[in-house]
Amino acid sequence: MFLSVHTAAGIFIGKQIPNPFLAFMVGFFSHFIVDMVPHGDDELNLWLEKGGRRIKIRNVVGLDIALSSALVSAAISRVDIRCIPSILAAAFGSVLPDLVWWPWKIFEISKEKLLFKFVNFHHNLQEKFKRNVSFKYGFAFQVLTLIGLALLIF
Ligand SMILES: [Zn+2]
Repeated sequence: MFLSVHTAAGIFIGKQIPNPFLAFMVGFFSHFIVDMVPHGDDELNLWLEKGGRRIKIRNVVGLDIALSSALVSAAISRVDIRCIPSILAAAFGSVLPDLVWWPWKIFEISKEKLLFKFVNFHHNLQEKFKRNVSFKYGFAFQVLTLIGLALLIF
């Protein structure tokens, strides 16, 4: 699932919950619910594994982060200044499970027990609720989810 979809969910949550800590927690848990949207990551992962893995991951994640940043910038530029901490906290919480995941994927560094257990938990949860769809359909589902959330936010 792209970070930008999670970020949009986080922004929406941050706009609803004025307490930054609570917004962060709800944003964090929203990650696992948003991950249940069929997103076709298996095909994307196969493509990533085919060669030039690091460059591909860097490009895909770079674009995704740029879009996420643009969403956050657009959102916080339109709200009361008092809402900004909650939006930032919820957006950060909503992507945190993947922020832990990606360094592990890119650098293959996680042998630390707690981090490894968390990545495993996240992965198992994704596998449990995964709907096997092609990347084409998964991408379409993600774009529709993103548009839906953007309509709620803006
Ligand atoms: Zn995830």
